[in-house]
Amino acid sequence: MSRVYNFSAGPATLPVEVLEKAQKELVDFHGAGVSVMEMSHRSSEYMAIFNGAIEKLKSLMSVPDNYKIMFLHGGASSQFGMVPLNLFSDKRKADYVNTGAWSKKAIAEAKRYGTINVVATSEDKTFNYIPELSKDMFDSEADYVHITTNNTIYGTTFPELPDVGDVPLVGDMSSNILAQEYDVSKFGLIYAGAQKNIGPAGVAIVIIREDLAGSELDICPKMFNYKTHIDNGSMFNTPPTYAVYMAGLVFEWLLEKGGVAAMQKINEEKAGWLYDFLDNSALFSGTAQVASRSTMNVPFVTTSEDLDAKFIKEAAQIGLKTLKGHRSVGGMRASIYNAMPTEGVKALVDFMKEFELKNK
Ligand code: PMP
Repeated sequence: MSRVYNFSAGPATLPVEVLEKAQKELVDFHGAGVSVMEMSHRSSEYMAIFNGAIEKLKSLMSVPDNYKIMFLHGGASSQFGMVPLNLFSDKRKADYVNTGAWSKKAIAEAKRYGTINVVATSEDKTFNYIPELSKDMFDSEADYVHITTNNTIYGTTFPELPDVGDVPLVGDMSSNILAQEYDVSKFGLIYAGAQKNIGPAGVAIVIIREDLAGSELDICPKMFNYKTHIDNGSMFNTPPTYAVYMAGLVFEWLLEKGGVAAMQKINEEKAGWLYDFLDNSALFSGTAQVASRSTMNVPFVTTSEDLDAKFIKEAAQIGLKTLKGHRSVGGMRASIYNAMPTEGVKALVDFMKEFELKNK
């Protein structure tokens, strides 16, 4: 077997133990004589897989009983539309914090249905920081406040959740769900695409405070209505069955590793090695402001675009893959989600040291 260290922002690296388990169970799932891919989503075997995944996620995130978990199609991007279609009241107004390209997409979509107030933005500095927020900046009459908890492209994370009073807080947690502890009760709704920190692409996770579902706009399509999926246990139509099964295996792996608190500690350690190196390097520097740094996505640059390209090429040659930054910002980005082994980050830092010595 030859595995590289894959620093892709998503779809991203998965725990090798999970891949091996899936491989073992691929053709004949526990004596069922079929693969999980071939099972009816309503069969007892599949229902056990599905409900098991929900229960494990509930336990990992300590989801309170008055919240519902859904496994849906359509990626995080569908949530850009589903959130306003379901959470807008007759007022149809919401507050958004603009911390990057994904926030902007969420804002553009919500604007199709109502009035969006952009409370703060970090666009002036290519989104390399999270703006300061205070309660008085938010409209107490808004239907909800939307934030992107971790900004995959720029490597920033909200250092703390904003105080939005009684207005429901909505979090796009696509790139740091299960990577650090969050108090779910502080949110009205959390959503995330799976393909970064959870499993393969194809399933999006939505966690909603139950009372927020059921007052959707009249124009809301049935498939976009949270109540449809809550009432049908995410089985209104065929759910992304195999992606949910894989997510369940990752949840099991996380529980075996000690859960989210244990992962957070390891993630802080892994990111710490990279940031310590970047802060002391004469060649490399991190691009996100210190107070807003992410433990999941670490963007950095050398002193020139030519050296950036050389670094990416030489790193790939020794099995440190997909380090190119997002096309909108350039440079490099190491995505070091839960499943990135500590050895992968150590190998990257060692290579950066060596590269610096040779290229200063
Ligand atoms: N939000 C964030 C923070 C993301 O990083 C991404 C994907 N890169 C998305 C939303 C969009 O996710 P999807 O491709 O699942 O629609």
